[in-house]
Amino acid sequence: LVVMSDVQKHYGDFQALKDIDLTVSRGEVVVVIGPSGSGKSTLCRTINRLETITSGVITIDGKELPKEGKGLAQLRADVGMVFQSFNLFAHLTILENVTLGPIKVRGMKKADAEREARVLLERVGIVAQADKLPAQLSGGQQQRVAIARALAMKPKLMLFDEPTSALDPEMINEVLDVMVGLARDGMTMIVVTHEMGFARKAADRVIFMADGQIVEEAAPEQFFTRPESARAKDFLSKLI
Ligand code: ATP
Ligand code: MG
Repeated sequence: LVVMSDVQKHYGDFQALKDIDLTVSRGEVVVVIGPSGSGKSTLCRTINRLETITSGVITIDGKELPKEGKGLAQLRADVGMVFQSFNLFAHLTILENVTLGPIKVRGMKKADAEREARVLLERVGIVAQADKLPAQLSGGQQQRVAIARALAMKPKLMLFDEPTSALDPEMINEVLDVMVGLARDGMTMIVVTHEMGFARKAADRVIFMADGQIVEEAAPEQFFTRPESARAKDFLSKLI
């Protein structure tokens, strides 16, 4: 589904991604882990073209990423992204947040979009809050709305960049549970997270990044119990 070949990314003189080769198959769940500044967010952001790459090729379904215009809007719809900060529209209700994209980008009728949105809100456990404003919800609830909003576009792929790191501990699991459910339903997901419980439960593969490179790739159990590289060993010993 997603193929990155020999991708390099520079910010000015600084190289944030080096020689990235990564293939993510349909239905696969890939967890990306690594120290701060290792390029995890940059990697995610190149896949929906929030960041351009310096060289190399990224394809989705065999097609190179569109550079602008309609194609780019379509790409952002096909690749859902959930960030650390929830980024909901503060002046819109929960329901309006979820239906905006489907109506504006996918051209859905309002009634259809609302019906589908309620199903999604039900799935993430907040349908009762549909008419509230984001500020009236807890962080965990807002993040679940952000997930529902991305799902409403019927994405081919979901990117999560540390979706639980801004949440109070008691809210982390309610968000991770939704993500585990998505993974079990076959969604293709790239998830930047240090939640090892999630990685163990839901990931098909763990990718460890350091200094802009993919240093190690393994099944979660193998990675967490028998990391091979010195960098990964060092990183894991400092986690928890
Ligand atoms: P964290 O765990 O802290 O979120 P990360 O692995 O997501 O880190 P990135 O945000 O991808 O790391 O950043 C990788 C490197 O690129 C860092 O050294 C960062 O300072 C640099 N960088 C990121 N965004 C920019 C930017 N817009 N301009 C210049 N440098 C940037
Ligand atoms: Mg980051």
